[in-house]
Amino acid sequence: MTSRPFRVLLVEDNPSNIALFTTVLKRDGYTLEVVTDGSEVEQRAAAVRPDLILMDINLPGMTGTELVGRLRADPSTADVPILALTAHAMDGDADVFLALGFNGYISKPIEVAAFRDTVRQTLAKDMHQRRGSAK
Ligand code: MN
Repeated sequence: MTSRPFRVLLVEDNPSNIALFTTVLKRDGYTLEVVTDGSEVEQRAAAVRPDLILMDINLPGMTGTELVGRLRADPSTADVPILALTAHAMDGDADVFLALGFNGYISKPIEVAAFRDTVRQTLAKDMHQRRGSAK
């Protein structure tokens, strides 16, 4: 159990995707911050201290693949789970995303139940790891 809702930082520039992800995540009780420009992500992540980042790849300002490297290099965001939000054309490249520093990926257009499961499981796994490391 947690004393506060999980904070999710959604990095996405497509209005339809933002609307859908916002509806689903808020319905599941998460607190949500949305960033639409890649150049603003590092600053917002440092301020919000999210429990999870959902990261589109194709963004104005800076790409998601560049951003994940920068977030991993910053001690304040190095350990935050980050899931890539990918187009179906990128499917099958799971190893590539893991090598870049992502914890996993979610294909767009999303299947809502799978999207919810992946978010929940990623947060649960991260909490378990934090407890295990006795931080
Ligand atoms: Mn995009």
